[in-house]
Amino acid sequence: MKILVTGGAGFIGSHTSVELLKAGYEIVIVDNYSNSSPDVIDKIKKITGKDFKNYELDVCDKDSLEKVFEENQIDGVIHFAGFKAVGESSKNPVMYYRNNIDSTLTLLEVMKQHNCKKFVFSSSACVYGNTSDGKCCEDSPLAPTNPYGETKLVSEFILKDLYKSDNSWGIVILRYFNPIGAHESGLIGENPKDIPNNLMPYIVRVASKEYDMLHIFGNDYKTIDGTGVRDYIHVVDLSIGHIKALEKLNKENGLFTYNLGTGHGVSVLELVNTFSKVNNVEVKYEFTARRLGDVDINYADVTKAYNELGFKATKTIEDMCRDSYNYVLKNKSN
Ligand code: UDP
Repeated sequence: MKILVTGGAGFIGSHTSVELLKAGYEIVIVDNYSNSSPDVIDKIKKITGKDFKNYELDVCDKDSLEKVFEENQIDGVIHFAGFKAVGESSKNPVMYYRNNIDSTLTLLEVMKQHNCKKFVFSSSACVYGNTSDGKCCEDSPLAPTNPYGETKLVSEFILKDLYKSDNSWGIVILRYFNPIGAHESGLIGENPKDIPNNLMPYIVRVASKEYDMLHIFGNDYKTIDGTGVRDYIHVVDLSIGHIKALEKLNKENGLFTYNLGTGHGVSVLELVNTFSKVNNVEVKYEFTARRLGDVDINYADVTKAYNELGFKATKTIEDMCRDSYNYVLKNKSN
């Protein structure tokens, strides 16, 4: 089977590409490198010892995308490409809607034209509203609190309507919780081009002395130690979730939605302390004001992904902290 991976040079896309190749799939990557770099392609080849085609293009560019489908017999698509910075999306919502919705629509149009109807979509836990106890189930109320989350929810609506109109499609929507960690080789990992918004990329930059101090946003939440609790999942576990999704679509058509998380919440302080311990490095921090829009606790109900996909995250918080730092250290010395 040949899978088109959009955004395949990005953080989750690159790790999933590795797992796809390991599992015996052929892949084609398209990426415009807006938040990644072309050398990731060679690293995926180095890790797997396998070759594949890649195209530098924007998924919103229909003509270029059509060419990819004409040149390759694509059997299914995993769509990662998209803007993903929550803060930026509030400052520039039109840019976010334009890019994230347009890319999905363009891709679906071209897929339909080529009778390619297997689609795995990168959604986010951002689509959930605030739940009373922080646990998110696939049928919990949907109420994003920022434009980024809205673009994911609108895309989910589009996919639902598409499936309603033509049930020969097979669509899996994956709602990611907080992916961190990196491939154990240290060759690929998370490397945001701008100042990171997310916690782990910031922690590693403080640990490696690129930044002085981590600002912990709030220590008066109703949690174990007052800091926010999230469901961190190792990016390699998350990637394997995509393989499980494809296996599902190889068995049946339908529209399926799954959370990908570990089902366990970890506080900011717990993550920072574990990071310091396993890597034997200091992470200086100070408490600052809460970040607008943050909730106390957010974690996944993982029952459905386990029951229907057989998916279960296996890597620990220690693994995530070690691999995140290993990637940074390896790439500093290169
Ligand atoms: N956080 C923090 N300092 C940072 C970045 C994040 O204290 O520099 C906290 C944030 O308030 C939240 C947790 O870390 O409680 C995870 O934040 P992230 O942005 O990584 O994920 P999200 O909140 O979007 O799930």
